[in-house]
Amino acid sequence: MKSILASIVFLLASTLLFSQNAPNDSLKIIVESRIKKGVTSQEIIIPIVDSDTIKKNIVDIKTEFWDTVNYNPYRNEVVKFPLQITFKDSNYASPIAKNKVITSRYGWRRGRPHQGIDIDLVTGDSVSSILDGVVRYARYSRGHGKVVVIRHYNGLETTYAHLSSINVKPNDTIAKGQFIGKGGNTGRSTGSHLHLVTSYKGQYIHPEYIFDFSEDNKIRAKELWVTKEWTRASFHSSRRQSKLKLYTTEDQALASLIKTKKVYVVRSGDTLSRISKRNNVSIAAICRTNSIRKSSTLRIGQKLILEL
Ligand SMILES: [Zn+2]
Repeated sequence: MKSILASIVFLLASTLLFSQNAPNDSLKIIVESRIKKGVTSQEIIIPIVDSDTIKKNIVDIKTEFWDTVNYNPYRNEVVKFPLQITFKDSNYASPIAKNKVITSRYGWRRGRPHQGIDIDLVTGDSVSSILDGVVRYARYSRGHGKVVVIRHYNGLETTYAHLSSINVKPNDTIAKGQFIGKGGNTGRSTGSHLHLVTSYKGQYIHPEYIFDFSEDNKIRAKELWVTKEWTRASFHSSRRQSKLKLYTTEDQALASLIKTKKVYVVRSGDTLSRISKRNNVSIAAICRTNSIRKSSTLRIGQKLILEL
């Protein structure tokens, strides 16, 4: 780190190229770094952390479930729905410094849940935090590859996966728009992209419910109520944009709950356990709603009501 700082200071004193389209509150510098076979240009983003960033975030987000070793420390936490998330800002900072091209959405994908949104990038592109926060987790994991998790001051966590390099460490305070690492293709990934996850107390949330991924970088609302349908990948398709139904009051969210029943038609090979896992409904709840026993035999074509 010292050597990086030293080289930044040195580079500041030498040739600099200032870029106009750097994220908010940061200074993007394109430097020439010497490598064995010649000279290559490298991009460094230095955030300008104003004292307000520290002052306005008085909530201590590290008191509960602060775990820098486990990706999901909330494993046994029961979350009551609808859950409320509030924002101070109306905009987030784009995680990449160019137009965001979504290559895969939050939703069901090839028989599995895809619990994040894929944003196209080229290996080596700068990735930055979309909001102020503290790095909770920064390491290599088999699925996510090199991954950074940032907890924000409203309890929301954002995960940046498949990075080629991690440039922060756990407990680092991060400003919105601050460079955290470089995009890549590490872990279970085919092709370089950013897999961005939004979660709250261990519950994955459809990122497009919270953030508008067009170039406006808008946060959908300052107060958002998240119902289970916005946490379940099986309710959405990774290939299509889901129809957005924002709940900005608790009443709206509660009123919507009445509708979150799903008719499931039993298919060949289905078991109660498989239906339960795929739809995130407990076996007990399926049995209760449909007045069947755990040991009941399912027929192909049988209709089950799933209360989600
Ligand atoms: Zn992904």
